Amino acid sequence: MSGVDWPGKLVATVFCQGCPWACPYCHNHAIIDPRIPGVVAWGSVEELLGRRHGLLDGVVFSGGEATRQVALGAAMARVREMGFLVGLHTAGPYPGRLSDLVGRGLIDWVGIDVKALPGPSYEGEAGRPGAGERAWESLGVVLSHLQVDHEVRLTVHPNGPGLAEGLEVARRVRALGARVFALQQARPTGAPTGFVADAPGWDEQVRDLADRIEALDFETFVFRGATA
Ligand code: SF4
Repeated sequence: MSGVDWPGKLVATVFCQGCPWACPYCHNHAIIDPRIPGVVAWGSVEELLGRRHGLLDGVVFSGGEATRQVALGAAMARVREMGFLVGLHTAGPYPGRLSDLVGRGLIDWVGIDVKALPGPSYEGEAGRPGAGERAWESLGVVLSHLQVDHEVRLTVHPNGPGLAEGLEVARRVRALGARVFALQQARPTGAPTGFVADAPGWDEQVRDLADRIEALDFETFVFRGATA
C-alpha cells in the first residue's frame, strides 16, 4: 500500500523481480536478478485487490524493471478488469514492449526514469551498452501518448552524471513536451554495497540544480531531496 508511488493516488504496488541494468544506486538491488523466486503469488494480489474495492485507486507495477516480465500485459489487463487504474514505474529498457502496453490502452500513468543524456554517461550509469538510446526512445513513447499521465524522474548521486548533465536533461525532456518532472536525490537504502550517497557540499549542489530545473517552468516540478 502506498500514497507516494503514484503521486496523488492511493495504490497497491507490485514489485516485479528482474532488471537488465545495474545502476549503482538501485533502491531495490536485491530483486534485480530475474531468477530469484517470487514471494507473492499473482492470485494473492487479486485476492487483496478484491478486498480493496473503493479503498484503492489503482495498482503500480514497479521493480526491478516491470517490463522485464512477459506476463505484465496480462496482469495489467486483469487489474483493469477488476476496476482499478494502472500505473507503471520503468527505466525504459524495452521501448518496444512499452509501446505495445501503452498502445493497448493498458496504462494510465507512467513514472519514467531518465538517468543522463544519451551516450557514454548513460551507459556508465546503467551499466549496459545502448541504455541511453533505449531510455530516451521509451520517453518518446510515453510523451507521444497524451492519454497517459506521466512523471519524468532524474535521480542524482555524487559519482553519477546527473549533476553535470541534469539541467540539459531537463531542458531536453521539457522540449519533448513533458509536463511533470521530478529531481530525486539517491538514498543509500536498499542500494548495492559501496554506493556513495553523500559528499561534502552535495545537498547544496543538488538544491542548486533543483532551482535551475524549477526555472524551466514545467507544469509540475517536484524535488525529492535527501530529507524529503
Ligand atoms: S534501472 Fe531501476 S531497477 Fe534497474 S538497476 Fe537501475 S535503478 Fe535498479
